[in-house]
Order: sequence, then C-alpha cells, then structure tokens
Amino acid sequence: MKSADRYVDILRRANLRVTPQRIAILSTLASGQHLATCQAIWERAHKRTRGLGLVTVYRILERLRTAGVVEQIDLRGTTHFCLADHHHDHVICESCGRVDPIDTCVLESLTGSRLEGTGFLVKGHRLDLLGVCPTCQRAAT
Ligand SMILES: [Zn+2]
Ligand SMILES: [Zn+2]
Ligand SMILES: [Zn+2]
Repeated sequence: MKSADRYVDILRRANLRVTPQRIAILSTLASGQHLATCQAIWERAHKRTRGLGLVTVYRILERLRTAGVVEQIDLRGTTHFCLADHHHDHVICESCGRVDPIDTCVLESLTGSRLEGTGFLVKGHRLDLLGVCPTCQRAAT
C-alpha cells in the first residue's frame, strides 16, 4: 500500500472526508518523532501544502482527535499529538522527555473484564511508562 493510500484508508474508516490537508497532517504525524506539537506539525506540513494555516491545523487536529484518529498527550504543560490508528501505549524518558510508542500492550487482557474491587467494566486504558531512554542512560555512565 502506498503511504498516501494508508491515510486515505484511515480517514475513510473514521468516516472523515478525505482532503489533501488532512492527509498532509497525518503523514507529518507518521514521520519523524512520535509526538509533535501543533506548531511543529504546521511548520513541516505547510511547506508541502498550499494555504495551510496554523489555525487550520488546530481545527483539523481537533476533528481527527474526536474521530479517534489522533491522540492528544499533555506533556510538561504542552499539548502533543500522535497518530492513533492502532492502539499503543507510551514510554516517556524522565530525563529528556523523549516519548516512544509501545506496540506490545501489557494491559490488553483487562479490556472487557470486570475490575475486581470497583466492579467497573473496563473498556480501554491509557498507559504511560516512565523511564530513562538509551541516550540518557549512556550520558549517565
Ligand atoms: Zn502515541
Ligand atoms: Zn532521555
Ligand atoms: Zn495498551
């Protein structure tokens, strides 16, 4: 599958209209660092997409977020976004703030079960593991 087709597919599955601007934002999110701020997404996407303003990027990200295509993460007081076309959790470096996705979910088995003690029916979760990234580990030795 061509990468542009992948984003068309993501938008269609979420019942969203396919526009060049939405595709530009999704492809920007899928490349480079796992998380990006709205400003950073705009800086990279607007060069390739004519007439893409910062406010438009804000609006599109909000629309993608409510559709579940994009996840919003607040980190150190700043709002970041990542592509959420499939479930993943995050590991965060406490030293430099780098965030990587974890594709192997350790809590998957809880979904759909009733939580002992509270009686809650579990429908999903958000998990942030905290740690020290390889670069910071090397810097410490
Ligand atoms: Zn993520
Ligand atoms: Zn680090
Ligand atoms: Zn998970």
